[in-house]
Amino acid sequence: MTNGAVIPPVIPGGHVTPRRRCVRHEEREAVGRCVVCKGGFCRECLTEHEDRLYCGPCFAVRVEAGRRDGARRLDWRRWRTALLMTGSLLCLVTGIYLLGRMLAAIPADVHDGTVWTETFKP
Ligand SMILES: [Zn+2]
Ligand SMILES: [Zn+2]
Repeated sequence: MTNGAVIPPVIPGGHVTPRRRCVRHEEREAVGRCVVCKGGFCRECLTEHEDRLYCGPCFAVRVEAGRRDGARRLDWRRWRTALLMTGSLLCLVTGIYLLGRMLAAIPADVHDGTVWTETFKP
């Protein structure tokens, strides 16, 4: 004979664990964990970014940090470009200056055509 008692299902592991609920929505089932705060969240609360799940606040922090990183990288790149341009300009100016010095150092004799006859005098 039965007494109508409901036997709770036996779950491997020993104890009955309540279904995980979203940290912010009591009535919703948690579908994933935020990789930052490790909290369980429902689908609506989670944002996927680069194959990782974030909750709203953590994602905002992550995006903000990423934007700061990007800005810093951009700044550095701009500086490097300016430095390279300044460097190449300096090289150019130095090169032109040295060329001028070299040309000025050539004795005037070269131009009247006597230097060769004097150098190769028999
Ligand atoms: Zn989080
Ligand atoms: Zn939620």
